[in-house]
Amino acid sequence: MLDSNYFHYSGSTLSCDEVRLDELATRFGTPLFVTSSKSLTDSYHAFEEAFAALPHFTCYSVKANYNLSVIRSFAALGCGCDVNSGGELYRSLQAGVDPQKIIFAGVGKKPEEIAYALRSGVLMLKAESISELRAINRIAGELQKTASIALRINPNVTAETHPYITTGDSKEKFGIDEAELPEVFALLGQLPNLRLIALDMHIGSQIFDPEYFVAATTKLLDIFNATKSLGFPIEFLDIGGGFPVTYDPLKPATPITHFAEKLIPMLQPAGVKVIFEPGRYLVANASVLLTRVLYKKSNHTGKEFFVVDAGMTELIRPALYHSHHEILAVTSHEKTIVADVVGPVCESSDFFARHRVLDAVEEGELFAVMSAGAYGAVMSSNYNGRLRPAEVMVTGSEVKLIRQRETYEQLVVNELL
Ligand SMILES: *Cc1c(COP(=O)(O)O)cnc(C)c1O
Repeated sequence: MLDSNYFHYSGSTLSCDEVRLDELATRFGTPLFVTSSKSLTDSYHAFEEAFAALPHFTCYSVKANYNLSVIRSFAALGCGCDVNSGGELYRSLQAGVDPQKIIFAGVGKKPEEIAYALRSGVLMLKAESISELRAINRIAGELQKTASIALRINPNVTAETHPYITTGDSKEKFGIDEAELPEVFALLGQLPNLRLIALDMHIGSQIFDPEYFVAATTKLLDIFNATKSLGFPIEFLDIGGGFPVTYDPLKPATPITHFAEKLIPMLQPAGVKVIFEPGRYLVANASVLLTRVLYKKSNHTGKEFFVVDAGMTELIRPALYHSHHEILAVTSHEKTIVADVVGPVCESSDFFARHRVLDAVEEGELFAVMSAGAYGAVMSSNYNGRLRPAEVMVTGSEVKLIRQRETYEQLVVNELL
């Protein structure tokens, strides 16, 4: 069982730090995301320690969990942000992040998003195509600014992960193809409002094998050498995110130190600052999704179901990526049962677990869906007229509400009759 330092049984009750999860459910209702602030801090420190020997700058990829309090927790530690849209930029600025620590990414930025990023004074914008370089140049000219640019390279490395989260393959939409680079470098000479300061890649997510990073970094370094001989003043090499976490104790993630051992000696000789963009690594195991069992039912084949009050609207990962999440009873039981854990949404893909050995809890009791901190709350939706859940953050014995549960009024606030 995934019994971490942050979510552990105290007696027979699952707790976060010094706070019992059953008490949080009573106080704030369910479904409820519970985040351990100590876990966020410790993950960041573990990452920083692993790469300490390398001059670098870590930018939290806010799309993994963009709650203002989560962004602010990292910003307070000195971390920057990698944002993917105007909305994520807005959130990061609202959380108090210094714009000079923000990188603006995204394969399809709208002109108004580019203008917003330039006006905000972000550290750099990533460009993912020739057309986008022209657009950024034009908008920067209109604003009488010089845009600092990173080129996102598609290194054509197919990382072995779920097909929906591999991004560094030529089949995918991301980045500029290597074959186009001579044209890009020639063009940059004719775009006076751009200043190329970084080369960037991001090959995917939940990548267990460091060799994929090694292969892609080798390509990035080759390109870096080419840009140097062309006279571009490259200050940063950005090798993206994708560092893995453990969801299933039977499939433990490669420790971050293994990535550091391979990457530090490769990147050190380049003599520039390295940027990392971890998302999942920093937040996945910091949160659980608390949900209450509404009904138990079984059918004539002997199949057992727990129908719970959270579903794919709060955590879509099992439906979208077939991902595994551990499920722990908040009050542990001796007896176990093999059952499916399913949500209330009208879709057959609305499940958290199939045919899983679980503590034999009763109706009205609670489950914690573990490792729900990354790509959980941020992918929540109002499908089926569901209200986005509340979120709390725990620090020691202290509990802070960091997002209120939505109300019915908020569901229709933007609609006009
Ligand atoms: C999603 C994303 C990340 C973060 O990926 P993780 O797997 O969560 O670490 C980093 N950089 C870019 C450009 C991304 O799109």
